[in-house]
Amino acid sequence: MPYQPVIGLEIHVQLKTKSKMFCTCPNNPDEAEPNVNICSICTGQPGTLPVINKAALEMAVLAARALNLKLSEESKFDRKNYFYPDLPKGYQISQYDMPIGLDGYLEIDVPSHLSGESNRAARGGVRPKGARAKIGITRVHLEEDAAKSIHGSKTGETLIDYNRCGTPLVEIVTEPDFRTPQEAKIFLQELRAIMRCLKISDADMEKAQMRCDANISLRKTDENGEFVDAALSPKTEIKNLNSFKAVERALEYEIKRQTKLWEQGKPPRVQSTRGWNEQSAVTEEQRVKEEAHDYRYFPEPDLPPMDMGEIIAKTQSELPELPIAKRKRFIDEYGFKNEEAKFLTSDPSLAEFTENVISELKEWLASLPEVEGDAEEIYEKQKAKLAKLVGGWICSKLQGIMTDKKIDIKNLKITPENFAEFISLIYTNKIGSAAAQKILAKMAEAGQDPTQIMEDNELGQMSDVKEIETVVQDIIRQNPDQAAAYGAGKTALLQFFVGLAMKATEGKADPNIVKVLLEKYLKEK
Ligand SMILES: [Zn+2]
Repeated sequence: MPYQPVIGLEIHVQLKTKSKMFCTCPNNPDEAEPNVNICSICTGQPGTLPVINKAALEMAVLAARALNLKLSEESKFDRKNYFYPDLPKGYQISQYDMPIGLDGYLEIDVPSHLSGESNRAARGGVRPKGARAKIGITRVHLEEDAAKSIHGSKTGETLIDYNRCGTPLVEIVTEPDFRTPQEAKIFLQELRAIMRCLKISDADMEKAQMRCDANISLRKTDENGEFVDAALSPKTEIKNLNSFKAVERALEYEIKRQTKLWEQGKPPRVQSTRGWNEQSAVTEEQRVKEEAHDYRYFPEPDLPPMDMGEIIAKTQSELPELPIAKRKRFIDEYGFKNEEAKFLTSDPSLAEFTENVISELKEWLASLPEVEGDAEEIYEKQKAKLAKLVGGWICSKLQGIMTDKKIDIKNLKITPENFAEFISLIYTNKIGSAAAQKILAKMAEAGQDPTQIMEDNELGQMSDVKEIETVVQDIIRQNPDQAAAYGAGKTALLQFFVGLAMKATEGKADPNIVKVLLEKYLKEK
């Protein structure tokens, strides 16, 4: 492509503190009743003084650590002045020149189906296949959120709900390092996983717990994919991106729109702001700014600069294993596939559930009479098969049940012990796939243990050879033509017989035993 997208992101993440950023009001921006979590501080009454929420500071430092920023030993708050009713003080308390941290990075996987064939143009153009992209993080700072404006009420007025006003936000600004909309989406998914792992936000974009503005411009490249001009073109900022999908689609749209402008010889000459319209799937011009807004930042006189030393020291030991490291461990240690590992580590509770299941299974394996060695050695031999079962059943069927019930792993009735037992029943061929699905659904209903459900509902697999033998012989007798055709070389008919046997046993026969017996008796014919 002769035009290479240059994309940067600006992300706001709501922090899960108990109280607001500068007062003791509950931090519950989604409270249904408007204007109940408010006080004289967050509604900007004269004569009140803000008090810093230390928990919010710690969370912001943790976020900055996880994103590899250089942490500021001294930090301060500033007033960002603007006049709008969603911030009754007439300014927002934010951070200007001494933020929580500067100059970090986050590495993301580049989707391999999208990256280039060759290694060329790593600088300007498409990244080489299988590469990891290092996305620069310009800064991380803390600020207070504004109130929610509700436009278009019955009477045509704009209503304002101050429950959200003064709640803590961490703002993350990236360098313009993304080369494709997909990279931006992957970055945001990674960021959500990190926020959840740090337990500082649920970072759900649909619930506006994580909000993203994207900026994009195009740069002309030569046939080697190198940029023709050294300077960046004026950027277009896209707002109103409420999902990962919206970020990706809006950027794709904007690349097409701007490419057309370049081809017509009239590339964007000034910075502008556009809004994403989800219904019509287009970006719409909101405003063109000739110059940057003058917010007249100045230091917040009511809050002296902060010595961050204590918090920096305290958070050093609090940084948990981050999703990237956890994913790698899930692949190396447990044998999960990349996609499964990604899903299983996307939520810390789900990751914990999975690890507990594995540890139960290790114990169970070691307790089997026929095995030798210690738990780790035994597990190492079986891990490929177990990972396939555990990963498969959690990522597809269990996930499906949770989606249907609109619950997550935290309020799931299935314990790791019971889920491990469930896997062991499949592993030992005590239940077949159809029975397993029924049992899992019942486990999610009542939280019973799977063996009990299997016995109560007679869902156990028929593995008694004598019993299956009778079924197999009956079937062969009842289908002499097909049996003869099989004997004459039409071996594909085996599947036909397997199907009949499974039907005759209501899916309870062990399909492996069925196959062996069918082959034996069909040959004898
Ligand atoms: Zn308040």
